[in-house]
Amino acid sequence: MAQYILEPFKIKTVEAIPITTRAERAQFIAAAGYNIFLLPSRAVTIDLLTDSGTTAMSDQQWAGMMAGDEAYAGSRNYYHLQEVVREIFGFEQFVPTHQGRGAEQVLFGILAQPGNVIPNNTHFDTTRANVEARGSVAVDLVIPEGKDPTNRHPFKGNMHLAALETLIAQTGVANIPLGMITITNNAVGGQPVALENIRATKAILARHGIPFFIDACRYAENCYFIRQREPGYRNKSIQEIAREIFSYADGFTMSAKKDGLVNIGGLLAARDPALFEQIQNRLILTEGFISYGGLARRDLEALACGLEEATDEKYLAYRTGQIAYLAERLLEAGVPIVEPPGGHAVFLDAKRFLPHIPQAHFPAQALTGALFLEGGIRGVEIGSVMFGHTDASGAPVYADLELVRLAIPRRVYTQAHLDYVAEVIAAVYRQRDSVRGLKMIYAQPSLRHFTARFEPL
Ligand SMILES: *Cc1c(COP(=O)(O)O)cnc(C)c1O
Repeated sequence: MAQYILEPFKIKTVEAIPITTRAERAQFIAAAGYNIFLLPSRAVTIDLLTDSGTTAMSDQQWAGMMAGDEAYAGSRNYYHLQEVVREIFGFEQFVPTHQGRGAEQVLFGILAQPGNVIPNNTHFDTTRANVEARGSVAVDLVIPEGKDPTNRHPFKGNMHLAALETLIAQTGVANIPLGMITITNNAVGGQPVALENIRATKAILARHGIPFFIDACRYAENCYFIRQREPGYRNKSIQEIAREIFSYADGFTMSAKKDGLVNIGGLLAARDPALFEQIQNRLILTEGFISYGGLARRDLEALACGLEEATDEKYLAYRTGQIAYLAERLLEAGVPIVEPPGGHAVFLDAKRFLPHIPQAHFPAQALTGALFLEGGIRGVEIGSVMFGHTDASGAPVYADLELVRLAIPRRVYTQAHLDYVAEVIAAVYRQRDSVRGLKMIYAQPSLRHFTARFEPL
């Protein structure tokens, strides 16, 4: 049994959650074409669609919102954010952006040219899209353990260092404008990256004179895993670990909707003065002036507070502990999940959960519908609806894995809510033989998972 990790907060404002009947849920999911993206949130009891921008802000952050200084230039909230960025990341030069992809669009708009190659442990989908939009090639170089759903490696998000060396040798330094590492590695399940691996990645890139950037969305969760799992870091503070990580970086992008503990916002930082000047110019063109970057100044204040709160060890123990707790309760019920769980989500393995449903009938999508019908839980399919396609001959190509992601919003649900989630999933698992596959009856040619519609078979 997992040890109870006390929620390190009490609740001052509450928001009612919809509690529905099975008959109502059956109507909602049918009307949505069995696609959870098409459900209104008023139909959803526990919403685990994403941890992005779904955070509950603290009383300090809300107080900060009231202290917004809405000056166009040089707002005091901007200077507060500057202090916090300097203290946590050790960066003097940064700009706010409207969210993570705003930072990516500005950075790659400057550095990435047609035919360039950009290595990353694994590109997040907006990162890949922004690289490819510039005509560059996004290469993922995660270690093989990262792709194995039952391998319990402590740092499954690591960069494959030998593969990075080979890529540089084959591509040539002139065609690699930067190298990146994403912490935690979202696309392989929020798996952490070891500090040793970050240091080694920096050393390889530095030896070739290639700038090293970090995608820092979940850096605080990554710091906590380093403290728990990596030899030599048990007695370091989260801030000390963060300072070491970012001391190796020439710059970073960040979606503040994750470890910034805000509902909207992002950051882009760079050490090179010439590059930073280009960043400022481009920012003004697309995001906004350098002291607000597309955000209200009150949002900058909430972000400055949120960045500080996210490095609190008690918060991180609760945060990562919640994910581990849900995973453990599911394993106790015999439910197949990806192991070990990462920092922000638990992934159900639908191929093992529903072995009677072939990939042609979308087992992970069928499972999202079953979880909703049983208990109003919204998870998201990461399988053949999202990644499947047809090849040149028109034959269907399926995803390697059929997963359902249960992403946990920050500070939103209590352990009691997670007990409810575990009970609902266990109930679906007991009746798994009755879950039926789906037929796709409508799909757009790209990003079909958002709008596809289905019928039960
Ligand atoms: C969310 C995310 C992004 C993009 O950020 P947005 O705020 O959604 O634009 C980039 N990289 C990673 C690793 C992410 O998780």
